[in-house]
Amino acid sequence: MNGRISDALLDRIREANDIVSVIGDYAVLRKTGRNFKALCPFHTEKTPSFIVSPEKQIFHCFGCSIGGNVFNFLMKYENISFPEAVRRLAKKAGIPLPMATREEGVRVQEKERLYRVNSIAADYFSNSLVDTPSGKRALEYLRERGLARETMEKFRLGYAPSSWDELLSQLKEKGFSRELLIKGGLLTSQGKPYFWSRIIFPILDTQDRVVGFGGRILGKGEPKYLNSPQTPIYDKGRILYGLNFSKEAIRSKEGAVVVEGYMDVILPHQEGFQNFIASMGTSLTTGQVYLLKRFSPQVTMLYDADAAGVQATLRGLDLFLEQGVKVKVISLSKGYDPDTFIQDKGREAFSRLLSQALPLIEWRFQLAKSRFDIKTIEGKIAIAEDLLPTIAKERNLIRQREEIKQLSQELSLEEEILWIELKKIKSGRPFSKEALKVGSQPSDLLRKAEASLIQLLLQDESLVSLVQEKLGPDDFIHPEYRRIAQAIFDLSTREKSLSPAKIMDQLKNESLSQMVTSLLMEKREYPRKERALNDLIKTIKDNKLKLEYQRLEKEIREVLERKGAINQEKRTRYLELLKYFRG
Ligand SMILES: [Zn+2]
Repeated sequence: MNGRISDALLDRIREANDIVSVIGDYAVLRKTGRNFKALCPFHTEKTPSFIVSPEKQIFHCFGCSIGGNVFNFLMKYENISFPEAVRRLAKKAGIPLPMATREEGVRVQEKERLYRVNSIAADYFSNSLVDTPSGKRALEYLRERGLARETMEKFRLGYAPSSWDELLSQLKEKGFSRELLIKGGLLTSQGKPYFWSRIIFPILDTQDRVVGFGGRILGKGEPKYLNSPQTPIYDKGRILYGLNFSKEAIRSKEGAVVVEGYMDVILPHQEGFQNFIASMGTSLTTGQVYLLKRFSPQVTMLYDADAAGVQATLRGLDLFLEQGVKVKVISLSKGYDPDTFIQDKGREAFSRLLSQALPLIEWRFQLAKSRFDIKTIEGKIAIAEDLLPTIAKERNLIRQREEIKQLSQELSLEEEILWIELKKIKSGRPFSKEALKVGSQPSDLLRKAEASLIQLLLQDESLVSLVQEKLGPDDFIHPEYRRIAQAIFDLSTREKSLSPAKIMDQLKNESLSQMVTSLLMEKREYPRKERALNDLIKTIKDNKLKLEYQRLEKEIREVLERKGAINQEKRTRYLELLKYFRG
């Protein structure tokens, strides 16, 4: 939408949009001391833990740890990209943006045209549902499945007839080329209709634009379901069916319910269960998890536990845990999906079913118990081995402790043993390639040191030059802290003052911005700052030397085993380091 926006322009736009007044449009802010407080718009809570700091121009939630500057807020709340957030706030402040580059302009224009084409096609399909004889058969089928006419209209359901003459001439008249229709996935590369004799489910993005279609065959035939191919506006790994209809309910209710197919969203929606979305496949992609996480920190999976795809589903769930999302699972009895369950057993039974959701780990335990014999020692080990990797991914440590405790009771195994096994799994996960090479992993101590150092710099910018004399960004082992340090160092050479909101624009990354706000808002005082700073620098430097030492040691050992000659320089360096560590 915009050409390259200079940092100066970005600053101007940010400064013209006071974070308190922008967030004030979305949440009721109450002044408390230097800050403002509100009920968090991103998670359900009864007492406010959402803070806006006018001084730092940032927001932070102590409940769900979402945070950032004014751009981050808009991106999260409206679920839009960074350039889009910049564009909206520029417009709000009446600041003109530079013209788009030609190439960008063409790309944006093409996307706009594809949205247009899809919308026209969706209208054509929905008319065909009532206007054509075969469409009427599709309509009858949908009625039999229990859908009311209003529901079909709301979801813009339609029918793709075998001949598209009317649609194609309509599109041609409006000036849309055949090439564009092929590019948008409406026509195959041979120029034939991509969908025919199928019930059509338009797939909308969160801004209500038709990005693609799903088609279900009417009657018999293969494949039963067919989705639009990947196009410039349809990336199936980043879209969730129904999210445009359910996002408000997901935000205000207790999270999203994830199901597999179109009908599993539509029928429950009609029956008042309006927080349902479909993954449109058995496994969730990382992109889908990120998308969902923006709307809710809690997710319930409603799947057929006996389905072939259950393993893929399980992998998808670990993704949520890594993102700090709370996951519950409901198994449907064999042969049922949400849509047929409501049909057969009714609303009340469905509501009861939903209330029986089990926390992920409990559900996995039930599943493991059905596969292994819990009475034998081998069975216990197999169950522990099955569950521990999932428990290891739990980011909430209180929950993790609780899960270990429960598992130990269920299996009558010592908690200690489970903790040891858990630590093994955790340390088995290489953190960075560098660390992997020397066969060791940066310790928690180091992580804390790097975080504290960044925190000190954020609290007191006069320390930046002091640190810069002794450390470079590359001295940070954890990539996330390395990038934050880089941004702070870069800014401090360019700017007179370091504002947190500026650092976030420099980072251009949501989770890094969140880390910055968390560090800023954490009330941690360093009474003797310079001394603390020097200790932290030493910890970080020592670790780097230790890695170098381990690497040299390994190298030298290998050379000795081969009975080769040791490079003199390396030998000297090794002895130097040895002396340093052994004192
Ligand atoms: Zn929150």
